[in-house]
Amino acid sequence: MARRKKIYEGKAKILYEGPEPGTIVQYFKDDATAFNAQKKDVIEGKGVLNNRLSEFFMTGLNQIGVPTHFLKRLNMREQLVRSCEIIPLEVIVRNYAAGTMSQRLGIDEGTQLPRPIVEYCYKDDNLGDPLVTEEHIAAFGWASQQDMDDIVSLALRVNDFLSGVMMAVGIRLVDFKIEIGRVYDGDFMRLIVADEISPDSCRLWDIETGEKLDKDVFRRDLGNLADAYTEVARRLGVMPMNAQPVTKPTLIN
Ligand code: 5GP
Repeated sequence: MARRKKIYEGKAKILYEGPEPGTIVQYFKDDATAFNAQKKDVIEGKGVLNNRLSEFFMTGLNQIGVPTHFLKRLNMREQLVRSCEIIPLEVIVRNYAAGTMSQRLGIDEGTQLPRPIVEYCYKDDNLGDPLVTEEHIAAFGWASQQDMDDIVSLALRVNDFLSGVMMAVGIRLVDFKIEIGRVYDGDFMRLIVADEISPDSCRLWDIETGEKLDKDVFRRDLGNLADAYTEVARRLGVMPMNAQPVTKPTLIN
């Protein structure tokens, strides 16, 4: 088989040219990084779990009419996605204070916010992904006002979907990050949810115990990251070895 062309290698994923024009193969690595890659490790099985979990969330979003880049899972570590032009923003939605919001504003972690709050960070590792406002985004031309309206609407729909799915399995969606891409259909441009949705990019707390089931387990040395992600996958019923899934999602293969 011909060697595939690597397009990009990030901290947790590798992108290869896909089999058809306009497609990309997204490979999930086992590498875990935090604090802008100052902390690094290899967590066996993380890539397999995130591939399945991102498939589960993106498939659900596609089914409720929130467009995503996800086309199909190819194998344990790879999925076929639509290629798109990534907007250089991390779009963060918060339901409870935690992480940098708690640090920045001195609000106790776990405080419920009066409504979901959307924040933007400019995607630039050299700058440490700084927080930016809509003023910066418009002034530097990263996205138009119409794009921003669409991005907020997509982010809040993703928040409602993910909050509900997680609540059904006893998990609180504290916050999450998504990335948005542009796709062109003839003269029309549409925005879609891209990158990944997984415990690497969400804060997930057990509703009863407050136990952390996300990447903070790695960031804060709270235990075994793969065990935490396996628990999320087990509750959602997405792992094949799960004998008694809590929910029975329909997966498109
Ligand atoms: P915070 O700003 O509190 O560090 O992060 C807010 C949310 O966005 C958390 O769920 C966190 O996992 C996610 N997030 C923020 N920046 C990144 C990033 O660079 N990569 C990933 N995977 N998630 C991020």
